[in-house]
Amino acid sequence: MTDRPSSERTLAASPEQAWVDELIDDWAEMGEFVDADPAECDRLVLECARELAADPDGALACRWTMGLLLGLLYRGTRPEEDMAAAAFDAAQAADRALRPLPCAHQEHPYQGDLTAEAWCFAEVLRELGGGEPVPWATLPRDEWLCPRNVAGYARVVMESLRAGSADDVPPFLSFEDQYEMVGLTAILEGYPLSRTYDVAWDLLLVASRLQEAEGDDLAGSVLAAAAVTWYVEAEADGTVDVQELLDALTVAFERALGLLDATTCTHDGHPELPRDSTETLAAGMYLASAPGRAAYEKWPEEWAIPLDTAVCPAFVAATAEDSLRRLRNTP
Ligand SMILES: [Zn+2]
Ligand SMILES: [Zn+2]
Repeated sequence: MTDRPSSERTLAASPEQAWVDELIDDWAEMGEFVDADPAECDRLVLECARELAADPDGALACRWTMGLLLGLLYRGTRPEEDMAAAAFDAAQAADRALRPLPCAHQEHPYQGDLTAEAWCFAEVLRELGGGEPVPWATLPRDEWLCPRNVAGYARVVMESLRAGSADDVPPFLSFEDQYEMVGLTAILEGYPLSRTYDVAWDLLLVASRLQEAEGDDLAGSVLAAAAVTWYVEAEADGTVDVQELLDALTVAFERALGLLDATTCTHDGHPELPRDSTETLAAGMYLASAPGRAAYEKWPEEWAIPLDTAVCPAFVAATAEDSLRRLRNTP
């Protein structure tokens, strides 16, 4: 990484291009090894921040910005202060340099559903690299490489680090919540990620979150904990000690019931929760934060139940009561 030629400024294949391609490979693999080697992920994030800050409107600004985005997504947990500051400043420099540039597009990729699309960003970057013929005829190349698109993704980076700093970008589930959702989904599907050392411990975090949830965030936390309850009910066979988890879920559901006023319901009826526990988990994760709820409404999944009924106190209380029944019957 140190023998970087410094003057190449073209999108065609070049020594610098090859070097960036190598980095993209590193970013793509990062999702696999980030838990085993978080310091390496941090190093890549800092490298992107440094390069972007040094040349915020350069030909490679798109890739440095996307590299930052990928690194922060993979990292999931709150980045430490120095790294967050470097990433924020670099993204802000790119936004300031690129946003005023002219453009004739009606819309840009950054305005899409980040939570759904982030998984293919490394692939997108490879396709944009220009070395190979582009097999994705549908990829709107001009719009991806447009300065205003790069500025938009830079603002996504800023917003991910400091909520409210770039409120014109579309809503997205926080990177921490995305990271947590991926880990919990893998558990519910029966294939925990390598970062999950202890399934019960990871599931306890869902109970803790419900125990602390308040106001509008309560409904989503109940739904996420209900999905965990279904999993525990189906998987517990008495051979693994899950008593601490059962107790924590019970206490949290009981507290939630005390906060919910079911008499305020004005609905004739309520929809069913998605049958798949991972879908109910996702609904819960989205509904448990304000940006998540905004993203839930803007890009409804096919299994999504309408927001107003999903957060109705009567519906949420019935879900908590059903979960308590299940917990009492779990060995
Ligand atoms: Zn444009
Ligand atoms: Zn209702």
